[in-house]
Amino acid sequence: MARRLEVISNHLGEKPQTMAKGLKTQYVKDPIKFMGLEDLIPMSLNTKRMQLREILDRDVAPLLPEFIEKAQFPREVLGKIKGLFGLSEAKYGCRQVTPREKSIILYELARVDTSLATFYALTMSLVIYTIEALGSEEQKAKYLPGLCNLDLIGCWGLTEPDFGSDASGLQTTATPVDGGFILNGSKRWIGNAIISDIMVIWAKNTKTNKIEGFVIPSKTPGIHVKNIDRKLGLRMVQNGVITLIDVKVPITTRLEKATNFANGVKVVLEHSRVSIAWIATGMLSGVYEASVKHLRERIQFGVPIGAFQLNQEKLVRVLGHFHSCFLLAWRITELQEQGKATSGQAGLVKAITSLIGRDAVRLGREMLGGDGILIDNYVMKALADMEIVYTYEGTYDINALVAGEAITGISAFKSSYSLRKK
Ligand SMILES: Cc1cc2nc3c(=O)[nH]c(=O)nc-3n(C[C@H](O)[C@H](O)[C@H](O)COP(=O)(O)OP(=O)(O)OC[C@H]3O[C@@H](n4cnc5c(N)ncnc54)[C@H](O)[C@@H]3O)c2cc1C
Repeated sequence: MARRLEVISNHLGEKPQTMAKGLKTQYVKDPIKFMGLEDLIPMSLNTKRMQLREILDRDVAPLLPEFIEKAQFPREVLGKIKGLFGLSEAKYGCRQVTPREKSIILYELARVDTSLATFYALTMSLVIYTIEALGSEEQKAKYLPGLCNLDLIGCWGLTEPDFGSDASGLQTTATPVDGGFILNGSKRWIGNAIISDIMVIWAKNTKTNKIEGFVIPSKTPGIHVKNIDRKLGLRMVQNGVITLIDVKVPITTRLEKATNFANGVKVVLEHSRVSIAWIATGMLSGVYEASVKHLRERIQFGVPIGAFQLNQEKLVRVLGHFHSCFLLAWRITELQEQGKATSGQAGLVKAITSLIGRDAVRLGREMLGGDGILIDNYVMKALADMEIVYTYEGTYDINALVAGEAITGISAFKSSYSLRKK
């Protein structure tokens, strides 16, 4: 009777599958252990990683499905991840978070949920990093403490309705006026837009024709934000359209070191693309765990489905892809820590981790069969989220072209075709 009830509840999706009798209890639960990748991580950081994992598994993961279903930002969860934020050096009352620590945090967050990891990457690698690397002392003192303890939420607006991949062609303007600038234009897909307190906005200075950055309060008159609803990936991240109509901002809002695209936007993207590689890697950890568990527990044709050669081969591919992602991401993080990472390397790592990551999540979803479409089983949500990892911070194609240019010395972004030809 008990077995029958278990079978019924399994079919209702309320309970995980039963454990197959006689199955060895020893198996590789955590992909990081298969080839001892954790030996690469300094011991104290690894201890922190395991503590974070415990908190995320116990206190955060169970709360998320409801927010994901409703596509709501999980504000209630923020308190539990508050201590994870910081700067590249301890300053302005903020703690130091080294590139390796940031990477490991992203990895653990993404293992649980990609939206959560994206919120972290957006805050740390786009908003905080932009201000820390390119802002004035006044901007740093004013915004960094609030951003690090999550009293302030920021967003980062580069892409526009008509300028996504071609971001350097953006049309938002910053017109110099007495004591400041007037901003006009539109930004699309901006994460956190509707919940933000401050915005980093990239705009073309109409006098110099250079792309400059501004950090401004979201409530500045003339700023209008509309959420993009009905999104099927990164459900908890609130992406929006920002419209700027005659937004008057003082000169102190300009990021003083971002005097053009190359020493502004490009510097930040080169940094933040490494974070996206870690998100892809963490996601593969989540996919692997869900897959191996299912292969051991789900019984078909009288045996655990992990006994089928086809499923074992798929699992090996997921684990192989995981290792490729981890090692690429680890190496670029080391280079970043030594101040040696280049744009081409970041492009290659972002492109390849999202490419093979996409393949791995598809395999994971396949292995979970019907159960693989439930929010609670990670893989379907990872499949949808990986499409965005493949797309944001420059699509796979654009990052491949960034790397391709670094390899060949030839820029291949622009087509010879012209709309004006005929
Ligand atoms: C969920 C989500 C969150 C985002 N968050 C932010 C954010 O917080 N801030 C922000 O500023 N932006 C954000 N973005 C924008 C993101 O960076 C862009 O979507 C991305 O750069 C692609 O631009 P696009 O969507 O306009 O696609 P398009 O540029 O229209 O590209 C469409 C297709 O054409 C290909 N393509 C374009 N140009 C070339 C070329 N030269 N060679 C080969 N192929 C090419 C692309 O690779 C792609 O496959 C986000 C996007 C999404 C979906």
